[in-house]
Amino acid sequence: MDKIINYIESNKDKYIEDLKVFLRIPSVSTNPENKNDVRDCAEYVEKQLRSIGLENISIYETPGHPIVYGDWLNAGDDKPTILIYGHYDVQPVDPLNLWTDPPFEPTVRDGNIYARGSADDKGQVFIHMKSIEAHLLNNGKLPVNIKFLIEGEEEIGSVNLDEFIAKNKTLLKCDYVVVSDSAMFDYDVPSICYGLRGLAYMQVEVTGPNRDLHSGSFGGAVNNPINALAHIIVNLKDDKGKILIDGFYDDVLKLSDKEREEFKKLPFNEEKYMEELEISELFGEEGYTTLERASARPTLDCNGIWGGFQGEGAKTVLPSHAGAKISMRLVPNQEPEKIEKLFTDYVNKISPDSVKVKVISLHGGKGAITPIDSPAIDAAVEALRLGFGKTPVFTREGGSIPVVNTFQTLLEADTILLGFGLPDENAHSPDEHLNLSNFQRGILSVAHYFNELSKIKK
Ligand SMILES: [Zn+2]
Repeated sequence: MDKIINYIESNKDKYIEDLKVFLRIPSVSTNPENKNDVRDCAEYVEKQLRSIGLENISIYETPGHPIVYGDWLNAGDDKPTILIYGHYDVQPVDPLNLWTDPPFEPTVRDGNIYARGSADDKGQVFIHMKSIEAHLLNNGKLPVNIKFLIEGEEEIGSVNLDEFIAKNKTLLKCDYVVVSDSAMFDYDVPSICYGLRGLAYMQVEVTGPNRDLHSGSFGGAVNNPINALAHIIVNLKDDKGKILIDGFYDDVLKLSDKEREEFKKLPFNEEKYMEELEISELFGEEGYTTLERASARPTLDCNGIWGGFQGEGAKTVLPSHAGAKISMRLVPNQEPEKIEKLFTDYVNKISPDSVKVKVISLHGGKGAITPIDSPAIDAAVEALRLGFGKTPVFTREGGSIPVVNTFQTLLEADTILLGFGLPDENAHSPDEHLNLSNFQRGILSVAHYFNELSKIKK
């Protein structure tokens, strides 16, 4: 490893210059006018994969933007195969006037590189490319088998990726998936994210009388759909934040003692958190900390609500209908279809007979978890310790990354999320940037990671 480490250290400045070339390509996947730029970017990635020494490189066409693939499978059957996933497309840049420098003219300032895509996700994809290059150039081989899958449609919902994975299961077969498309917990706090939440998103529509009524003439005699909807929503949760849907918690994967200990180690300041949000008190399920509630426990929230008169002044009306959008963040082992059914049954049970209630499921996705004692997680701990000189923390993400579930379902492979961005690096906003020290330490960590992963007995 010494040769590799020295090589990475001595190429620090070159890496930044090389990254700039990647960042200059305006690969905004959602803009039709950037279609050719996105293609140029795929070709750039293809060339890169070739130049770092990967094999079987190919640009796969999809009905949308292409997927780029390359691999190196000469480490031997007794070594694990790692699939690295990332994306080369970026978010749109507007509002353009809020950028200090043009978004596709990468600029280095105060130890950061500023450009659209620097953190999300080109900079992080680049980390993997350069770690592979450092191994192949200095040792002529990689310690593990590598498959590299980079798509160009992540920012538009990875619309063609699931089908590609389903059709290419043999090509993509692997033991573990590594994704670097997220953030560390904080600066100098290297992090391993091992869990993601799922989602069940519902719509509830309540209909009362066949038309809006005069609340003076009919009020008191006819149930009001808004009142009925409010009754339903209020009864979904108790006043301590516990969800009241029958069977809702049955499949919830409980936090282990080890996980709860790890949560306690996270540098989190509750006072600052409240101050930032200008709230005087936190609210959530009893018996859990704020970080546990926000990432490892299921939730239920009303996302939108409508009905009746919303204009200025007063209009006395007893409306004909009302509705609400309600989302539930799910945790591993909760099946979205089952939760949707439990939600529907429960809402029907508590709905007053005086109104008609329709429950629609809008969309759902499963959560994902990689066991905290997985050998690939142990290897990541050691790699980040070597790369950052600090023991990493364990985190779980409150949101979802749908592709992680696809990897789990179709490839039966656990995903390890090694984010090298920071929470305040403005991914998706003006002045997106990537901290260059994390970029460099990321390359070093991933180079170590390949080495640590090779120690896993297959
Ligand atoms: Zn991303």
